[in-house]
Amino acid sequence: MIFRYINCEIHINKIFFNISTWNSKLCGIYYFVKEALVVREVDDILTEWMGRPQIVPQVCDVVIIGGGAIGSSIAYWLRRRVYTEEFKVVVVERDPMVSLSEYTTASTTLSVGGLRQQFSLKENIEMSLFGAEFLRNVNSYLGIEGESPVDVCFHPYGYLTLASEKGAATLIENSKLQNFLGAKNILLSPAKLKDVFPWINTEGVELGCLGLEKEGWFDPWALLSAFKKKAIILGAKYISGEAQGFFYKESGDALDGLIIKTKEGEICNMKFAIAIVAAGAFSGQIVANVKAEDKLEQISLPVEPRKRYVYCFHCPDGPGLNTPLTIDYTGTYFRREGLAGTYICGRSPEESEEPSIEDLSVDHDYFDEKVWPILAQRIPAFEKLKLRSSWAGYYEYNTFDKNGIIGVHPYYQNLIFATGFSGHGIQQSPAVGRAISELIIDGEFKTLDLSNLDFKRIIYSKPICEANIV
Ligand SMILES: Cc1cc2nc3c(=O)[nH]c(=O)nc-3n(C[C@H](O)[C@H](O)[C@H](O)COP(=O)(O)OP(=O)(O)OC[C@H]3O[C@@H](n4cnc5c(N)ncnc54)[C@H](O)[C@@H]3O)c2cc1C
Repeated sequence: MIFRYINCEIHINKIFFNISTWNSKLCGIYYFVKEALVVREVDDILTEWMGRPQIVPQVCDVVIIGGGAIGSSIAYWLRRRVYTEEFKVVVVERDPMVSLSEYTTASTTLSVGGLRQQFSLKENIEMSLFGAEFLRNVNSYLGIEGESPVDVCFHPYGYLTLASEKGAATLIENSKLQNFLGAKNILLSPAKLKDVFPWINTEGVELGCLGLEKEGWFDPWALLSAFKKKAIILGAKYISGEAQGFFYKESGDALDGLIIKTKEGEICNMKFAIAIVAAGAFSGQIVANVKAEDKLEQISLPVEPRKRYVYCFHCPDGPGLNTPLTIDYTGTYFRREGLAGTYICGRSPEESEEPSIEDLSVDHDYFDEKVWPILAQRIPAFEKLKLRSSWAGYYEYNTFDKNGIIGVHPYYQNLIFATGFSGHGIQQSPAVGRAISELIIDGEFKTLDLSNLDFKRIIYSKPICEANIV
């Protein structure tokens, strides 16, 4: 694949676009403070996070818009693979982690942190298998010498997906594919379900699929922090600011730079060779700012925020340790939060019920009317639950087919998408970061073939639907 960069046309697999040198020649100034790429002191990094006045580089090789799990994973993988000072990777994040109260609207920090292979699409299963491998060995990827080990608090209690008569054939089909690809799950009849999970009411259930390994849930905040810290240690630079638009090469066939409003309110222009859109639910807005070339229609990215509620409740008589993340065939799910007695749950609304996305307020009537009755029917002990708290977050919802979009903009070849995961992106962040690094460094996907997730499917109107969206 050929990418046209600032002053040259190169094959994507050759990282010799040293635009820092190019820039110094052109402008007579070498903008970057030379940061030694020996492992940097953790204190330095924390100072950087704590809001030291920032220097926005005027050029970089790769700019990543959005520093959530996906953007930070990409930064980590790029810097892990190309560990040279010349290769400048910059992450622009408008709501950075300065204290524990930031990343206020990021999907990552508001996520439920589930990891499963119970998908219908090969790509989703494979990405989540790698997610499991990554989390199992998280310290060999994200550990930092001299620091406490990374703990993402993985709870390996599996997923239990329930199917009614209508969904049973699909459950069988999906389970076959999942096991073929390396997942490990079994199908359970209603009687067997009752044996293993005596707390369940199997009325209306035809079949269950129980994940035996590589499934469970973890702490998304811990994963994000670890990605970000390691990416910075490896030399990625985080800028606190908002990406507000692009400027273009004179030839008109490539993006030339990014307009950033910093947290101090300054407007800066930063040239780049490649830009990656990893802005989660707000990715569609970023691409709406990309101007259409003459004679071309505006290309829109079908990713928008969809609000999802998570309710936290207490129920001392509820199911104990042996409780997988359970998804009823209505889409209502719950899992333990802690060891026993406290749970979180949720349910995606019907298309016609989609709530306003103006803010992240929670609709408690939705719990009373649409969630609790299903929970109480499925797990009779939940009739006596007490709602304790709640929150809402945005799914980065791909309205076209509810799957990630991983690939190059159809016209501007130096703009890459990594977004649209519609509620399953945190578990896929390790695989997505690795895939984007391959696309940039090797010019093609090497470990997992994710070419079906390319933007082309939208142009050709060929959705690849995932049956198991929760
Ligand atoms: C309630 C809920 C439950 C979920 N449960 C699960 C689950 O169980 N398992 C799972 O795998 N996934 C789950 N998800 C989905 C998962 O959280 C997301 O897919 C994933 O976090 C997406 O990561 P991201 O980095 O793309 O987006 P984000 O985490 O949203 O990060 C994008 C970042 O971009 C920044 N940004 C946006 N616009 C700009 C701009 N113009 N300039 C600079 N920065 C910008 C934002 O501030 C944000 O920090 C859930 C999501 C929600 C909301």
